[in-house]
Amino acid sequence: MNTRRNFLKKASSLCTAAAVAISNPSIAFAKKISASLDRIKGKIIRKSDANYKLWWASMVWYVFKPELYPDLIVKAKDDKDVIEAVNYARENGHRVSIRSGGHNPARAVLRDGGVLLDLSALREVSFNSADKTAWLQPGIRSEEFIELAREHDLAFPAAHTGIVPMGGYLIGGGLGWNWPEWDIACRSIIAAEIVLADGRKVIASETENQDLLWTIRGVGPGFFGVVTRYKLQMFPLPKAILKSKYLVPIDKLPEVIVELETITKAKSNKLEVLAVAGHFYPPNKPVEQQQLVCAVTAIAFADSKKEVFALMDPVTRSKISGMSILQKENDEIVFQDLYIPPPTDFASPNRSIVENIWTDEPGKSLQLLADRLKNNPPSSNRSFALTGWGVSPDKDDSNSSFTYFGDHYVSWYAMAEEEAHLVPNVTWMEETVKAIQPYTNGHYVNEIDPRHFPDHVKGCFSEEKWQRLAKLRLHYDPDNLFHTYINHS
Ligand SMILES: Cc1cc2nc3c(=O)[nH]c(=O)nc-3n(C[C@H](O)[C@H](O)[C@H](O)COP(=O)(O)OP(=O)(O)OC[C@H]3O[C@@H](n4cnc5c(N)ncnc54)[C@H](O)[C@@H]3O)c2cc1C
Repeated sequence: MNTRRNFLKKASSLCTAAAVAISNPSIAFAKKISASLDRIKGKIIRKSDANYKLWWASMVWYVFKPELYPDLIVKAKDDKDVIEAVNYARENGHRVSIRSGGHNPARAVLRDGGVLLDLSALREVSFNSADKTAWLQPGIRSEEFIELAREHDLAFPAAHTGIVPMGGYLIGGGLGWNWPEWDIACRSIIAAEIVLADGRKVIASETENQDLLWTIRGVGPGFFGVVTRYKLQMFPLPKAILKSKYLVPIDKLPEVIVELETITKAKSNKLEVLAVAGHFYPPNKPVEQQQLVCAVTAIAFADSKKEVFALMDPVTRSKISGMSILQKENDEIVFQDLYIPPPTDFASPNRSIVENIWTDEPGKSLQLLADRLKNNPPSSNRSFALTGWGVSPDKDDSNSSFTYFGDHYVSWYAMAEEEAHLVPNVTWMEETVKAIQPYTNGHYVNEIDPRHFPDHVKGCFSEEKWQRLAKLRLHYDPDNLFHTYINHS
Protein backbone atom coordinates (compact mmCIF):
# COMPACT_ATOMS: atom_id res chain seq x y z
CA MET A 1 0.00 0.00 0.00
CA ASN A 2 2.78 2.27 1.04
CA THR A 3 4.64 1.48 -2.18
CA ARG A 4 1.57 2.25 -4.25
CA ARG A 5 1.09 5.56 -2.43
CA ASN A 6 4.72 6.47 -2.97
CA PHE A 7 4.44 5.58 -6.64
CA LEU A 8 1.33 7.76 -7.02
CA LYS A 9 3.05 10.58 -5.12
CA LYS A 10 6.15 10.37 -7.34
CA ALA A 11 4.06 10.12 -10.52
CA SER A 12 2.03 13.14 -9.49
CA SER A 13 5.12 15.22 -8.68
CA LEU A 14 6.71 14.18 -11.98
CA CYS A 15 3.53 15.25 -13.82
CA THR A 16 3.60 18.57 -11.98
CA ALA A 17 7.33 19.04 -12.83
CA ALA A 18 6.68 18.15 -16.47
CA ALA A 19 3.73 20.54 -16.63
CA VAL A 20 5.84 23.32 -15.12
CA ALA A 21 8.71 22.48 -17.49
CA ILE A 22 6.44 22.55 -20.54
CA SER A 23 4.95 25.86 -19.50
CA ASN A 24 8.45 27.11 -18.62
CA PRO A 25 10.90 26.18 -21.39
CA SER A 26 13.93 27.41 -19.44
CA ILE A 27 13.39 24.65 -16.85
CA ALA A 28 13.06 22.00 -19.56
CA PHE A 29 16.24 23.39 -21.10
CA ALA A 30 18.07 23.34 -17.75
CA LYS A 31 17.10 19.70 -17.13
CA LYS A 32 18.30 18.68 -20.58
CA ILE A 33 21.62 20.46 -20.01
CA SER A 34 22.39 18.79 -16.70
CA ALA A 35 21.32 15.38 -18.03
CA SER A 36 23.68 15.62 -20.97
CA LEU A 37 26.64 16.96 -18.99
CA ASP A 38 26.11 14.29 -16.35
CA ARG A 39 27.21 11.65 -18.81
CA ILE A 40 30.63 13.25 -19.18
CA LYS A 41 33.24 11.42 -17.10
CA GLY A 42 35.96 14.05 -17.42
CA LYS A 43 36.19 17.38 -15.63
CA ILE A 44 33.60 20.10 -16.26
CA ILE A 45 34.45 23.63 -15.22
CA ARG A 46 31.76 26.32 -15.35
CA LYS A 47 32.37 30.05 -15.52
CA SER A 48 30.69 30.37 -12.13
CA ASP A 49 33.07 27.88 -10.46
CA ALA A 50 35.50 29.32 -7.93
CA ASN A 51 38.52 27.76 -9.66
CA TYR A 52 37.41 28.72 -13.19
CA LYS A 53 40.09 31.41 -13.61
CA LEU A 54 42.87 28.91 -12.79
CA TRP A 55 41.55 26.39 -15.30
CA TRP A 56 41.06 29.14 -17.86
CA ALA A 57 44.66 30.28 -17.43
CA SER A 58 45.96 26.74 -17.91
CA MET A 59 44.24 26.38 -21.29
CA VAL A 60 46.80 28.60 -23.03
CA TRP A 61 50.51 27.95 -22.67
CA TYR A 62 51.53 31.58 -23.15
CA VAL A 63 52.04 34.04 -20.29
CA PHE A 64 49.83 36.67 -21.93
CA LYS A 65 46.30 35.53 -22.72
CA PRO A 66 43.39 37.31 -24.36
CA GLU A 67 40.45 38.22 -22.11
CA LEU A 68 38.11 35.73 -23.75
CA TYR A 69 36.09 33.43 -21.54
CA PRO A 70 34.28 30.25 -22.60
CA ASP A 71 31.14 29.41 -20.57
CA LEU A 72 32.28 25.88 -19.98
CA ILE A 73 35.54 23.97 -20.14
CA VAL A 74 35.17 20.24 -20.71
CA LYS A 75 38.29 18.17 -20.14
CA ALA A 76 37.40 14.98 -22.00
CA LYS A 77 38.45 11.67 -20.51
CA ASP A 78 37.72 9.59 -23.60
CA ASP A 79 36.11 9.65 -27.04
CA LYS A 80 32.63 9.27 -25.58
CA ASP A 81 33.12 12.46 -23.58
CA VAL A 82 34.05 14.22 -26.81
CA ILE A 83 30.82 13.04 -28.43
CA GLU A 84 28.76 14.05 -25.37
CA ALA A 85 30.35 17.49 -25.29
CA VAL A 86 29.76 18.04 -29.01
CA ASN A 87 26.12 16.90 -28.70
CA TYR A 88 25.58 19.04 -25.62
CA ALA A 89 26.99 22.12 -27.36
CA ARG A 90 24.96 21.54 -30.53
CA GLU A 91 21.69 20.90 -28.68
CA ASN A 92 22.14 23.97 -26.50
CA GLY A 93 23.27 26.47 -29.10
CA HIS A 94 26.90 26.75 -27.96
CA ARG A 95 29.89 26.97 -30.26
CA VAL A 96 32.90 24.74 -29.64
CA SER A 97 36.62 25.48 -29.59
CA ILE A 98 39.08 22.60 -29.48
CA ARG A 99 42.32 22.33 -27.53
CA SER A 100 45.02 19.70 -27.75
CA GLY A 101 47.69 21.60 -25.81
CA GLY A 102 47.07 25.37 -26.10
CA HIS A 103 50.33 26.27 -27.87
CA ASN A 104 48.78 27.92 -30.91
CA PRO A 105 50.44 31.38 -31.09
CA ALA A 106 47.16 33.20 -31.75
CA ARG A 107 45.69 31.54 -28.63
CA ALA A 108 43.01 30.07 -30.93
CA VAL A 109 41.56 27.88 -28.19
CA LEU A 110 40.21 30.84 -26.19
CA ARG A 111 36.94 32.25 -27.48
CA ASP A 112 34.15 34.13 -25.74
CA GLY A 113 31.26 31.96 -24.57
CA GLY A 114 30.47 28.41 -25.61
CA VAL A 115 32.37 25.23 -24.84
CA LEU A 116 36.14 24.81 -24.78
CA LEU A 117 36.73 21.12 -25.42
CA ASP A 118 40.09 20.16 -23.94
CA LEU A 119 41.66 16.97 -25.36
CA SER A 120 44.94 17.17 -23.46
CA ALA A 121 44.09 14.10 -21.32
CA LEU A 122 43.70 11.94 -24.46
CA ARG A 123 47.22 10.57 -24.65
CA GLU A 124 47.11 6.93 -25.78
CA VAL A 125 49.71 5.76 -28.27
CA SER A 126 50.17 2.37 -29.93
CA PHE A 127 52.63 1.18 -32.56
CA ASN A 128 52.67 -1.49 -35.22
CA SER A 129 56.32 -2.22 -35.91
CA ALA A 130 55.46 -4.53 -38.84
CA ASP A 131 53.91 -1.83 -41.03
CA LYS A 132 55.67 1.03 -39.23
CA THR A 133 52.49 2.82 -38.20
CA ALA A 134 51.24 4.42 -35.00
CA TRP A 135 47.87 5.47 -33.62
CA LEU A 136 48.07 8.38 -31.24
CA GLN A 137 45.72 10.68 -29.41
CA PRO A 138 46.11 14.46 -29.66
CA GLY A 139 47.30 15.25 -26.12
CA ILE A 140 50.66 13.48 -26.41
CA ARG A 141 53.65 15.81 -26.73
CA SER A 142 56.34 15.60 -29.42
CA GLU A 143 59.20 14.47 -27.19
CA GLU A 144 57.08 11.86 -25.39
CA PHE A 145 55.88 10.46 -28.70
CA ILE A 146 59.42 10.24 -30.08
CA GLU A 147 60.63 8.54 -26.90
CA LEU A 148 57.91 5.86 -27.21
CA ALA A 149 58.57 5.42 -30.94
CA ARG A 150 62.26 4.80 -30.26
CA GLU A 151 61.37 1.59 -28.39
CA HIS A 152 59.98 0.33 -31.72
CA ASP A 153 62.96 1.57 -33.75
CA LEU A 154 60.73 4.20 -35.30
CA ALA A 155 60.89 7.96 -35.71
CA PHE A 156 58.70 10.80 -36.97
CA PRO A 157 59.08 14.46 -37.99
CA ALA A 158 57.71 15.65 -34.63
CA ALA A 159 58.05 19.32 -33.62
CA HIS A 160 61.49 20.80 -33.02
CA THR A 161 60.54 21.59 -29.43
CA GLY A 162 59.57 18.64 -27.23
CA ILE A 163 56.70 20.32 -25.38
CA VAL A 164 54.63 20.87 -28.55
CA PRO A 165 51.52 18.64 -28.45
CA MET A 166 51.00 16.43 -31.48
CA GLY A 167 47.27 17.30 -31.86
CA GLY A 168 47.47 20.89 -33.09
CA TYR A 169 50.93 20.41 -34.58
CA LEU A 170 49.72 17.69 -36.98
CA ILE A 171 46.46 19.28 -38.04
CA GLY A 172 48.24 22.54 -38.92
CA GLY A 173 51.06 20.94 -40.92
CA GLY A 174 54.03 20.12 -38.73
CA LEU A 175 57.51 21.39 -39.61
CA GLY A 176 59.50 18.75 -37.74
CA TRP A 177 62.95 17.23 -37.49
CA ASN A 178 64.28 15.94 -40.83
CA TRP A 179 61.36 17.55 -42.62
CA PRO A 180 63.20 18.28 -45.90
CA GLU A 181 63.49 14.48 -46.26
CA TRP A 182 60.35 13.21 -44.46
CA ASP A 183 58.11 16.05 -45.66
CA ILE A 184 55.74 18.06 -43.55
CA ALA A 185 54.31 15.86 -40.79
CA CYS A 186 50.61 16.10 -41.76
CA ARG A 187 51.34 14.28 -45.02
CA SER A 188 52.17 11.20 -42.93
CA ILE A 189 48.67 11.12 -41.43
CA ILE A 190 47.19 8.05 -43.10
CA ALA A 191 43.93 7.83 -41.15
CA ALA A 192 42.09 9.50 -38.30
CA GLU A 193 39.07 9.15 -36.06
CA ILE A 194 36.97 12.29 -36.18
CA VAL A 195 33.89 13.42 -34.25
CA LEU A 196 31.72 15.53 -36.54
CA ALA A 197 29.29 18.35 -35.69
CA ASP A 198 26.34 15.92 -35.74
CA GLY A 199 28.04 13.80 -33.06
CA ARG A 200 28.99 10.91 -35.36
CA LYS A 201 32.46 9.43 -35.04
CA VAL A 202 33.87 8.60 -38.47
CA ILE A 203 37.10 7.28 -39.92
CA ALA A 204 38.98 9.33 -42.47
CA SER A 205 41.42 7.40 -44.62
CA GLU A 206 42.47 6.84 -48.24
CA THR A 207 39.30 4.73 -48.69
CA GLU A 208 36.74 6.41 -46.37
CA ASN A 209 35.88 10.09 -46.13
CA GLN A 210 38.94 11.00 -48.17
CA ASP A 211 38.02 14.68 -48.16
CA LEU A 212 38.34 14.75 -44.36
CA LEU A 213 41.78 13.15 -44.57
CA TRP A 214 42.79 15.75 -47.15
CA THR A 215 41.48 18.50 -44.84
CA ILE A 216 43.24 17.46 -41.63
CA ARG A 217 46.52 17.38 -43.52
CA GLY A 218 47.13 21.08 -42.91
CA VAL A 219 43.84 22.91 -42.22
CA GLY A 220 45.03 24.16 -38.80
CA PRO A 221 42.79 26.08 -36.38
CA GLY A 222 39.82 26.10 -38.77
CA PHE A 223 38.81 22.45 -38.73
CA PHE A 224 35.12 21.53 -38.58
CA GLY A 225 35.41 18.41 -36.42
CA VAL A 226 37.42 16.94 -33.55
CA VAL A 227 40.29 14.57 -34.28
CA THR A 228 40.41 12.09 -31.42
CA ARG A 229 43.04 9.78 -32.97
CA TYR A 230 45.60 10.03 -35.76
CA LYS A 231 47.16 7.10 -37.58
CA LEU A 232 50.67 7.98 -38.76
CA GLN A 233 53.07 6.41 -41.19
CA MET A 234 56.28 6.27 -39.19
CA PHE A 235 59.89 6.21 -40.42
CA PRO A 236 62.75 3.87 -39.53
CA LEU A 237 64.84 5.43 -36.76
CA PRO A 238 67.96 6.87 -38.44
CA LYS A 239 70.97 4.91 -37.22
CA ALA A 240 73.37 7.83 -37.54
CA ILE A 241 72.77 11.53 -36.84
CA LEU A 242 75.40 14.24 -37.02
CA LYS A 243 74.92 17.77 -35.70
CA SER A 244 77.03 20.87 -36.19
CA LYS A 245 76.33 24.19 -34.54
CA TYR A 246 78.06 27.55 -34.94
CA LEU A 247 77.53 30.96 -33.33
CA VAL A 248 78.67 33.80 -35.59
CA PRO A 249 78.77 37.55 -34.76
CA ILE A 250 75.88 39.38 -36.42
CA ASP A 251 78.17 41.67 -38.44
CA LYS A 252 79.34 38.56 -40.30
CA LEU A 253 75.77 37.72 -41.35
CA PRO A 254 76.18 38.78 -45.03
CA GLU A 255 79.10 36.31 -45.39
CA VAL A 256 77.19 33.60 -43.52
CA ILE A 257 74.26 34.06 -45.91
CA VAL A 258 76.54 33.60 -48.93
CA GLU A 259 77.77 30.35 -47.38
CA LEU A 260 74.23 29.18 -46.58
CA GLU A 261 73.20 29.80 -50.18
CA THR A 262 76.07 27.65 -51.43
CA ILE A 263 75.33 24.90 -48.90
CA THR A 264 71.63 24.88 -49.84
CA LYS A 265 72.43 24.37 -53.53
CA ALA A 266 74.76 21.46 -52.74
CA LYS A 267 72.92 19.77 -49.90
CA SER A 268 70.84 16.61 -49.82
CA ASN A 269 67.32 16.61 -48.34
CA LYS A 270 68.81 14.52 -45.55
CA LEU A 271 70.63 17.60 -44.28
CA GLU A 272 68.45 20.05 -42.35
CA VAL A 273 69.91 23.56 -42.12
CA LEU A 274 68.57 26.23 -39.77
CA ALA A 275 69.89 29.73 -39.09
CA VAL A 276 68.55 31.80 -36.21
CA ALA A 277 69.25 35.43 -35.27
CA GLY A 278 68.90 36.20 -31.57
CA HIS A 279 70.68 37.29 -28.42
CA PHE A 280 72.35 33.95 -27.77
CA TYR A 281 76.01 34.79 -26.95
CA PRO A 282 77.59 34.09 -24.56
CA PRO A 283 75.14 31.29 -23.71
CA ASN A 284 74.00 30.77 -20.11
CA LYS A 285 74.22 34.50 -19.39
CA PRO A 286 71.22 36.72 -18.60
CA VAL A 287 69.80 37.93 -21.90
CA GLU A 288 70.63 41.59 -21.10
CA GLN A 289 74.30 40.59 -21.21
CA GLN A 290 74.05 38.64 -24.46
CA GLN A 291 74.96 39.80 -27.96
CA LEU A 292 72.94 39.41 -31.12
CA VAL A 293 74.43 36.54 -33.12
CA CYS A 294 73.49 34.15 -35.88
CA ALA A 295 73.27 30.51 -34.78
CA VAL A 296 73.66 28.06 -37.67
CA THR A 297 72.64 24.46 -37.02
CA ALA A 298 73.00 21.61 -39.51
CA ILE A 299 71.78 18.07 -38.84
CA ALA A 300 72.39 15.07 -41.09
CA PHE A 301 70.12 12.01 -40.84
CA ALA A 302 71.20 8.67 -42.35
CA ASP A 303 72.03 5.06 -41.53
CA SER A 304 75.80 5.07 -41.32
CA LYS A 305 78.53 7.23 -39.90
CA LYS A 306 80.15 7.43 -43.33
CA GLU A 307 76.94 8.74 -44.90
CA VAL A 308 76.24 11.44 -42.30
CA PHE A 309 79.79 12.78 -42.53
CA ALA A 310 79.41 12.92 -46.33
CA LEU A 311 76.05 14.71 -45.95
CA MET A 312 77.61 17.28 -43.63
CA ASP A 313 80.45 17.94 -46.07
CA PRO A 314 79.05 21.15 -47.63
CA VAL A 315 78.80 22.66 -44.13
CA THR A 316 82.18 21.46 -42.92
CA ARG A 317 83.87 22.79 -46.07
CA SER A 318 82.12 26.19 -45.80
CA LYS A 319 83.68 29.29 -44.24
CA ILE A 320 81.13 29.36 -41.40
CA SER A 321 83.40 27.53 -38.99
CA GLY A 322 86.17 30.08 -39.56
CA MET A 323 83.83 32.96 -38.71
CA SER A 324 82.33 31.46 -35.57
CA ILE A 325 82.94 32.55 -31.98
CA LEU A 326 81.65 29.27 -30.62
CA GLN A 327 81.06 25.95 -32.32
CA LYS A 328 80.37 22.28 -31.82
CA GLU A 329 81.11 20.55 -35.09
CA ASN A 330 80.25 16.97 -36.15
CA ASP A 331 78.62 15.94 -32.91
CA GLU A 332 77.33 12.35 -33.17
CA ILE A 333 73.92 12.23 -31.52
CA VAL A 334 70.79 10.08 -31.34
CA PHE A 335 67.28 11.24 -32.31
CA GLN A 336 66.23 11.92 -28.68
CA ASP A 337 69.17 14.29 -28.24
CA LEU A 338 67.41 16.70 -30.59
CA TYR A 339 65.11 17.42 -27.67
CA ILE A 340 67.82 18.43 -25.22
CA PRO A 341 66.79 22.05 -24.57
CA PRO A 342 69.24 24.63 -26.01
CA PRO A 343 71.02 26.94 -23.54
CA THR A 344 68.66 29.76 -24.64
CA ASP A 345 65.06 30.50 -23.73
CA PHE A 346 64.10 29.99 -27.36
CA ALA A 347 60.88 28.22 -26.32
CA SER A 348 59.76 30.75 -23.72
CA PRO A 349 56.01 31.24 -23.08
CA ASN A 350 56.74 34.99 -23.22
CA ARG A 351 56.20 34.83 -26.98
CA SER A 352 53.65 37.59 -27.59
CA ILE A 353 53.26 37.65 -31.36
CA VAL A 354 54.58 35.31 -34.05
CA GLU A 355 54.57 35.49 -37.85
CA ASN A 356 56.16 33.62 -40.75
CA ILE A 357 56.59 33.44 -44.50
CA TRP A 358 57.45 30.94 -47.21
CA THR A 359 60.02 32.53 -49.46
CA ASP A 360 62.52 32.16 -52.28
CA GLU A 361 64.73 34.73 -50.51
CA PRO A 362 65.80 33.30 -47.14
CA GLY A 363 69.03 35.33 -47.08
CA LYS A 364 67.39 38.71 -47.71
CA SER A 365 64.66 37.84 -45.22
CA LEU A 366 67.12 36.83 -42.49
CA GLN A 367 69.23 39.95 -43.04
CA LEU A 368 66.13 42.16 -42.85
CA LEU A 369 64.98 40.52 -39.60
CA ALA A 370 68.44 40.64 -38.04
CA ASP A 371 68.68 44.35 -38.93
CA ARG A 372 65.34 44.98 -37.29
CA LEU A 373 66.34 43.02 -34.17
CA LYS A 374 69.51 45.12 -33.98
CA ASN A 375 68.40 48.61 -35.03
CA ASN A 376 64.71 48.69 -34.33
CA PRO A 377 64.07 45.90 -31.84
CA PRO A 378 60.81 44.74 -30.29
CA SER A 379 60.28 45.13 -26.54
CA SER A 380 62.38 42.21 -25.39
CA ASN A 381 65.89 41.06 -26.32
CA ARG A 382 64.65 37.49 -26.14
CA SER A 383 62.91 38.01 -29.52
CA PHE A 384 64.44 36.10 -32.43
CA ALA A 385 64.09 35.12 -36.10
CA LEU A 386 64.47 31.66 -37.63
CA THR A 387 65.15 30.44 -41.17
CA GLY A 388 64.89 26.92 -42.59
CA TRP A 389 66.94 26.54 -45.77
CA GLY A 390 65.89 24.24 -48.63
CA VAL A 391 63.09 22.56 -46.73
CA SER A 392 60.52 21.75 -49.38
CA PRO A 393 62.17 20.69 -52.63
CA ASP A 394 60.08 18.60 -55.08
CA LYS A 395 57.12 18.01 -52.79
CA ASP A 396 53.69 17.03 -54.14
CA ASP A 397 50.99 19.26 -52.64
CA SER A 398 47.94 17.56 -54.10
CA ASN A 399 47.10 15.12 -51.29
CA SER A 400 46.79 17.72 -48.53
CA SER A 401 45.15 21.03 -47.74
CA PHE A 402 48.64 22.19 -46.71
CA THR A 403 50.43 24.24 -49.40
CA TYR A 404 54.15 24.97 -49.81
CA PHE A 405 54.75 28.46 -51.21
CA GLY A 406 58.52 28.36 -51.42
CA ASP A 407 61.58 26.26 -50.68
CA HIS A 408 62.51 28.18 -47.55
CA TYR A 409 60.76 28.98 -44.28
CA VAL A 410 61.20 32.11 -42.17
CA SER A 411 59.49 32.82 -38.84
CA TRP A 412 60.03 35.45 -36.17
CA TYR A 413 58.96 35.70 -32.56
CA ALA A 414 58.49 38.90 -30.51
CA MET A 415 58.70 38.34 -26.76
CA ALA A 416 57.06 40.39 -24.01
CA GLU A 417 58.26 40.58 -20.42
CA GLU A 418 55.22 42.54 -19.25
CA GLU A 419 51.78 43.68 -20.42
CA ALA A 420 53.20 47.05 -21.49
CA HIS A 421 55.24 45.27 -24.18
CA LEU A 422 52.25 43.81 -25.97
CA VAL A 423 51.06 46.83 -27.96
CA PRO A 424 54.57 47.98 -29.04
CA ASN A 425 55.24 44.40 -30.19
CA VAL A 426 52.14 44.50 -32.41
CA THR A 427 53.39 47.75 -33.97
CA TRP A 428 56.83 46.18 -34.44
CA MET A 429 55.21 43.17 -36.08
CA GLU A 430 53.08 45.30 -38.41
CA GLU A 431 56.18 47.16 -39.58
CA THR A 432 58.10 43.91 -39.99
CA VAL A 433 55.33 42.20 -41.96
CA LYS A 434 55.22 45.22 -44.28
CA ALA A 435 59.00 45.34 -44.69
CA ILE A 436 59.27 41.63 -45.52
CA GLN A 437 56.35 41.73 -47.98
CA PRO A 438 58.64 41.76 -51.08
CA TYR A 439 60.00 38.32 -50.07
CA THR A 440 56.63 36.85 -49.00
CA ASN A 441 55.14 34.03 -51.07
CA GLY A 442 52.69 32.69 -48.49
CA HIS A 443 52.31 31.65 -44.84
CA TYR A 444 52.23 28.60 -42.54
CA VAL A 445 48.99 28.32 -40.57
CA ASN A 446 50.48 27.07 -37.28
CA GLU A 447 52.67 30.13 -36.78
CA ILE A 448 50.52 33.08 -37.83
CA ASP A 449 48.49 35.49 -35.74
CA PRO A 450 45.10 36.21 -37.35
CA ARG A 451 44.19 38.39 -34.37
CA HIS A 452 46.31 41.03 -36.08
CA PHE A 453 46.77 39.66 -39.62
CA PRO A 454 43.49 37.94 -40.60
CA ASP A 455 44.43 37.91 -44.31
CA HIS A 456 47.42 35.66 -43.54
CA VAL A 457 45.03 32.72 -43.06
CA LYS A 458 44.03 32.74 -46.73
CA GLY A 459 47.71 33.20 -47.53
CA CYS A 460 48.34 29.70 -46.15
CA PHE A 461 46.35 27.97 -48.90
CA SER A 462 46.21 28.04 -52.68
CA GLU A 463 43.01 29.65 -53.98
CA GLU A 464 41.70 26.25 -55.08
CA LYS A 465 42.32 24.69 -51.66
CA TRP A 466 40.80 27.66 -49.87
CA GLN A 467 37.59 27.28 -51.94
CA ARG A 468 37.50 23.54 -51.30
CA LEU A 469 37.90 24.05 -47.54
CA ALA A 470 34.99 26.52 -47.54
CA LYS A 471 32.75 24.01 -49.36
CA LEU A 472 33.71 21.18 -47.00
CA ARG A 473 33.05 23.33 -43.95
CA LEU A 474 29.57 24.14 -45.24
CA HIS A 475 28.94 20.46 -45.85
CA TYR A 476 30.25 19.07 -42.55
CA ASP A 477 29.36 21.94 -40.21
CA PRO A 478 26.52 23.92 -41.81
CA ASP A 479 25.53 25.55 -38.50
CA ASN A 480 29.06 26.65 -37.62
CA LEU A 481 29.22 24.60 -34.42
CA PHE A 482 33.02 24.67 -34.42
CA HIS A 483 34.87 27.96 -34.24
CA THR A 484 36.84 28.63 -37.36
CA TYR A 485 39.98 30.77 -37.83
CA ILE A 486 40.14 33.84 -35.60
CA ASN A 487 38.57 36.89 -37.28
CA HIS A 488 36.76 34.68 -39.79
CA SER A 489 33.11 33.66 -39.69
C1 LIG B 1 57.66 26.44 -28.19
C2 LIG B 1 56.99 26.11 -29.49
C3 LIG B 1 57.68 25.43 -30.47
C4 LIG B 1 57.06 25.11 -31.68
N1 LIG B 1 57.75 24.41 -32.62
C5 LIG B 1 57.15 24.07 -33.77
C6 LIG B 1 57.83 23.30 -34.75
O1 LIG B 1 58.97 22.89 -34.59
N2 LIG B 1 57.18 23.02 -35.90
C7 LIG B 1 55.90 23.42 -36.13
O2 LIG B 1 55.36 23.13 -37.19
N3 LIG B 1 55.23 24.15 -35.22
C8 LIG B 1 55.81 24.48 -34.06
N4 LIG B 1 55.12 25.20 -33.13
C9 LIG B 1 53.77 25.65 -33.45
C10 LIG B 1 52.76 24.54 -33.13
O3 LIG B 1 52.69 23.64 -34.20
C11 LIG B 1 51.40 25.15 -32.92
O4 LIG B 1 51.49 26.03 -31.83
C12 LIG B 1 50.32 24.10 -32.65
O5 LIG B 1 49.05 24.69 -32.82
C13 LIG B 1 50.42 23.54 -31.27
O6 LIG B 1 49.54 22.48 -31.08
P1 LIG B 1 48.51 22.47 -29.86
O7 LIG B 1 48.01 21.08 -29.80
O8 LIG B 1 49.04 23.07 -28.65
O9 LIG B 1 47.37 23.40 -30.48
P2 LIG B 1 46.18 24.10 -29.67
O10 LIG B 1 46.62 25.47 -29.31
O11 LIG B 1 45.68 23.21 -28.61
O12 LIG B 1 45.09 24.15 -30.81
C14 LIG B 1 45.13 25.12 -31.83
C15 LIG B 1 43.93 24.92 -32.74
O13 LIG B 1 44.13 23.77 -33.57
C16 LIG B 1 42.93 23.05 -33.73
N5 LIG B 1 43.05 21.73 -33.12
C17 LIG B 1 43.98 21.34 -32.21
N6 LIG B 1 43.82 20.05 -31.93
C18 LIG B 1 42.78 19.60 -32.64
C19 LIG B 1 42.11 18.35 -32.76
N7 LIG B 1 42.52 17.29 -32.08
N8 LIG B 1 41.04 18.25 -33.57
C20 LIG B 1 40.61 19.33 -34.28
N9 LIG B 1 41.21 20.54 -34.22
C21 LIG B 1 42.27 20.67 -33.40
C22 LIG B 1 41.85 23.85 -33.03
O14 LIG B 1 41.23 24.71 -33.97
C23 LIG B 1 42.63 24.66 -32.02
O15 LIG B 1 41.99 25.86 -31.66
C24 LIG B 1 55.72 25.52 -31.91
C25 LIG B 1 55.02 26.22 -30.93
C26 LIG B 1 55.64 26.52 -29.72
C27 LIG B 1 54.88 27.27 -28.70
